[in-house]
Amino acid sequence: MFIEVNKIPPEGQEVDQVLALPPILQSNGEFAPLEGVKLVGVLRRRDSDVEFQGQVEGVVSLVCSRCLTPFKLTLEEACHRIFRPGALGRSESEHELVEEELALTPFDGVRIDLSEMAREQMYLAVPLKPLCRESCRGICPRCGTDRNITSCNCPEDKSDLSPLTSKLTLQ
Ligand SMILES: [Zn+2]
Ligand SMILES: [Zn+2]
Repeated sequence: MFIEVNKIPPEGQEVDQVLALPPILQSNGEFAPLEGVKLVGVLRRRDSDVEFQGQVEGVVSLVCSRCLTPFKLTLEEACHRIFRPGALGRSESEHELVEEELALTPFDGVRIDLSEMAREQMYLAVPLKPLCRESCRGICPRCGTDRNITSCNCPEDKSDLSPLTSKLTLQ
């Protein structure tokens, strides 16, 4: 969803928009579909910059990293961006981006892409290791039983390490 910057009135422009966004590509290579994504907030012009302040919400379909059960997670994220015309200079180290720089997004000076902003914000909010619930007991690494449904008779692993890693540690 593109906004023509010169059509934003001096008093600002309210945004209340349902967006159809493509699935998020997660760090594990899986795609996580998004539904009901809604962007709410205000766009304001500050000199040649355009500032957005508001929030994005939506439901993302994930797979539990412990028990592999699909589940849905509702995300509600504050969203603050400053769109600045032109290319942004990179700071010395890309790892030392301060929050202000993260909120700065270059644009062509003509129009800004709110869908892209909403998609990035949702992407940042998706957990790296999604859990269907905090107490998920996961799948037994020995016999493959879903330990949320039934328990098995395998010896309980005391550590959180995978069988391979604990073997290596013992040697
Ligand atoms: Zn789970
Ligand atoms: Zn087992």
